Amino acid sequence: EVKKNGKNGFQFFSNELDNQLLLRIELESDLRKAVKQNEFILYYQPQVRASSNEIIGVEALVRWNHPTKGMLSPGIFIPVAEETGLIYDIGTWTLREACKQMKKWHSAGGPLIPVSVNLSSRQFHQANLVEYIRDILQETGLEAKYLELEITESMMMDADLSTEILNKLNDFGVKISLDDFGTGYSSLSYLKLLPIHKLKIDRSFITDITQNTSDQAIVATIISMAKHLNMDVIAEGIETKGQLDFLTENACKEIQGYYFSRPLPATEVEETFFVPYRQTLL
Ligand code: C2E
Ligand code: MG
Ligand code: MG
Ligand code: MG
Repeated sequence: EVKKNGKNGFQFFSNELDNQLLLRIELESDLRKAVKQNEFILYYQPQVRASSNEIIGVEALVRWNHPTKGMLSPGIFIPVAEETGLIYDIGTWTLREACKQMKKWHSAGGPLIPVSVNLSSRQFHQANLVEYIRDILQETGLEAKYLELEITESMMMDADLSTEILNKLNDFGVKISLDDFGTGYSSLSYLKLLPIHKLKIDRSFITDITQNTSDQAIVATIISMAKHLNMDVIAEGIETKGQLDFLTENACKEIQGYYFSRPLPATEVEETFFVPYRQTLL
């Protein structure tokens, strides 16, 4: 019908929409299969202390090893997983896998560092989140203090609800980081109310930090605010020495970014970062 009625341009537009819809349907059905066949893999990106290059934690980042399309990044499939509810299965796998891996590293004499795991909004709001996390920790044997959950400001919209959830997690001993900090349009007042342990300065403030004086002001302010609120602070997306220098000059001690390491498969993390520990501990 569209073809008969419309001009060429309109017809093209319509086909484009059809294509997008088809791609989306295909992605969704592939994702369902991926959950059943467990096509996911976790990469780990080191977080380091800038003064010593010492590894102080790792962030678990999920990838989808698609049978025909290769390794897909979470930006492509997490939003679809979130919309369809597949995020519950993917998120459970991710949490369990990350805790299992960290426990394995601890048991093998690796550094006693925490693993950070990203939670999506639906996961954060799922019923019995605390019991669910407790079960995963029990099952994998990882101590609660070695698990950090990364949430975003946008999940804090319902202040009463998030207070309740975060207090329970905190009582249980799990750490909370605010990811992508500074991009969320939310009120700062929740920072004084909620048990948040760490602010992660978003990469968008870091990219031009050697030139952009507004970014410099924002980042310096976040670092100082974190200090005064007794929170840790880490900067994301450090790619250059210049960016690193700005951060260390402004007393940001913890760093994550390609400058130190890209996210790596578990075995590469061991080979690259745990070698000195292994030698001293074996
Ligand atoms: P995020 O949690 O803010 O993670 C940081 C992202 O920045 C990662 O992208 C990481 O690879 C990338 N990155 C780190 N350092 C640099 C750098 O120096 N330069 C640049 N250009 N990028 C850097 P990735 O792995 O593609 O993940 C994207 C987002 O997907 C994550 O952002 C997080 O929001 C989400 N995500 C990843 N894994 C999971 C997961 O297991 N569950 C959930 N719910 N979301 C996840
Ligand atoms: Mg994160
Ligand atoms: Mg982030
Ligand atoms: Mg992000």
